[in-house]
Amino acid sequence: MARNYDAVVVGGGIMGLSIAWSLARRAAGRIALLEKAYLGAGGSGKSGAIIRQHYSNRLTAQLARDSLRIFQEFDQVVQGPPVFTRTGLAIVVHQNDLPALQANLQMQQELGIDVHLVSARELAELDPNTRLAEDEVAAWESEAGYVDAIQALTSYAQACQREGVEIQEGVEVRQLLRQGNRAVGLETNEGRLNCGIVALAVGPWINRLADSLRVDIPVQASRTQVALFRRPVEMGRRTATCVDFVGQIYYRATAGELLHVGSIAGEEVRDRVDPDDYSEVADRDWVPAIRQRLQQRCPAMHRCYGRGGYAALYDITPDWHPILDRCPQMENVYLAVGFSGHGFKFAPMIGQLLAELIVDGQYRSLDVTAFRLNRFAEGQLIKTRYTYGVIA
Ligand SMILES: Cc1cc2nc3c(=O)[nH]c(=O)nc-3n(C[C@H](O)[C@H](O)[C@H](O)COP(=O)(O)OP(=O)(O)OC[C@H]3O[C@@H](n4cnc5c(N)ncnc54)[C@H](O)[C@@H]3O)c2cc1C
Repeated sequence: MARNYDAVVVGGGIMGLSIAWSLARRAAGRIALLEKAYLGAGGSGKSGAIIRQHYSNRLTAQLARDSLRIFQEFDQVVQGPPVFTRTGLAIVVHQNDLPALQANLQMQQELGIDVHLVSARELAELDPNTRLAEDEVAAWESEAGYVDAIQALTSYAQACQREGVEIQEGVEVRQLLRQGNRAVGLETNEGRLNCGIVALAVGPWINRLADSLRVDIPVQASRTQVALFRRPVEMGRRTATCVDFVGQIYYRATAGELLHVGSIAGEEVRDRVDPDDYSEVADRDWVPAIRQRLQQRCPAMHRCYGRGGYAALYDITPDWHPILDRCPQMENVYLAVGFSGHGFKFAPMIGQLLAELIVDGQYRSLDVTAFRLNRFAEGQLIKTRYTYGVIA
């Protein structure tokens, strides 16, 4: 069979699948999606997949808002079962940070996001398990929740196949073959492919292709950790999702009996790893430490019991925001990488936007040129009010 494609998407995570599906819907010709291992082998298959619109940056909040609408109707838009569970989100800060929180809420309200300050009593009614101390304040984002990451990957993959995308697992791109400032093909472990355009959605592995691209892409592969605890009877109803700026943790209930807990302290920056060789087990001392922080915010969890944990990868950029761009050195190569541990929620819009850039030559739904690669060289990093990178 001919190995000529109009478009090749590299990476079988949520971004690659969303991009491939969006391209196929734009009739972008013969499309292949190449994945070196299996679909969801990267961060997408291990994601917390919390969907919130709480950002301190207008552009990122818009991206989250517009993607949420698609996740809410995923069964209609992409088909397959519904993937989104609404839980509401409690955002807890120290009272000293109230002005910054209020500024964020005002910006979000201007975007039509349903978020507001709540008293301790109101929070207790919305979510009896999230405790608020006297010197703390909370906000409530009503539409937040989480996505079943594996189902979303599955539904996208099935939708891709219905649209004729050829998904090839176990195919690793080793090199881009250039002619002048264009990529004409890809060298893989299964031989050569010819391609019209290439979209790279390879997450923390992007630097493996840096030599081919002849450009520095500031994405750091970092290890992050997650702990899982069984929720005790005392907890009663399933708890809301929480971003706790005081304890520097986030947590959400799983569809089953567990609570998924992670850190927002940004320690990942110091844990740079080889993405093909890192410990996927949570550290022995990290799990009890995060449990202590969890119990401060969620006292019922004193009676939880540990169900282990795991480690996974973030692809971190210097400003913890993604790189979405056409590669400056190669005019038919596109980048969608560096989602810095909070990208799942943007995936539907990222696919749509990259397809617009590829097919129409410009963004139509939302101007995300602020995510261009050159922003780092230009010193135009995305600014946020938070020092917690992953919360942005
Ligand atoms: C523990 C954890 C919790 C998270 N929680 C949240 C959250 O609550 N909310 C949120 O919005 N986001 C969250 N995220 C972040 C989110 O999951 C990621 O930003 C998103 O999944 C990244 O998707 P991706 O497709 O860009 O990358 P990946 O999922 O990493 O996919 C990249 C794929 O490319 C493949 N690949 C790499 N190199 C090659 C090559 N040369 N050839 C072929 N294939 C290749 C890899 O095998 C991999 O499957 C979390 C992430 C983690 C790890």
